[in-house]
Amino acid sequence: MRGIAIVVPEPRPSPAGAVDRADLDVIAEQLRRPPRGVRAVAHRCPAGHPNVVTTEPRLEDGTPFPTLYYITCPRLAGAVGTLEASGLMREMSERLRTDGDLAAAYAAAHEGYLREREAIEVVPETAGISAGGMPHRVKCLHVLVAHALAKGPGVNPLGDEAVVLLGEWWQGTPCASAPGS
Ligand SMILES: [Zn+2]
Repeated sequence: MRGIAIVVPEPRPSPAGAVDRADLDVIAEQLRRPPRGVRAVAHRCPAGHPNVVTTEPRLEDGTPFPTLYYITCPRLAGAVGTLEASGLMREMSERLRTDGDLAAAYAAAHEGYLREREAIEVVPETAGISAGGMPHRVKCLHVLVAHALAKGPGVNPLGDEAVVLLGEWWQGTPCASAPGS
């Protein structure tokens, strides 16, 4: 005990009610567990399911959660996993060491990621730490793809590349179109 006042989480715009119950139900099904810290749906598949969510920088139980954008759809996550298994991350990390323009754009993506997260809440434990290996390496394509899908093209260059390589991953799956369409 340090004898100081009990730390009460700072007030912030509550996400409660900001995400539709129906979306939360889909996300729970995707994750096979109750979703935690979902702040918003950041991207949807052609069928309209949430597939990237914006998460709270600190979960309700106090755990810092640096991954601001998180893939929830197992089909999308699986497609990204296949890309990861191809050795793409090592190749991208090597290019970051030799391509100054790419490195600068990737560093800007990292800074933007931090700015957006801190606009929601400043979490000292994760200060300066983004996710996915940014800004110097590529350690998790899921993070980069989630960032690219949430923000659209032109924000995370390597995320954008991965999204292009993923192609129409939803074809032939229930993510391809809305039921009955
Ligand atoms: Zn879907």
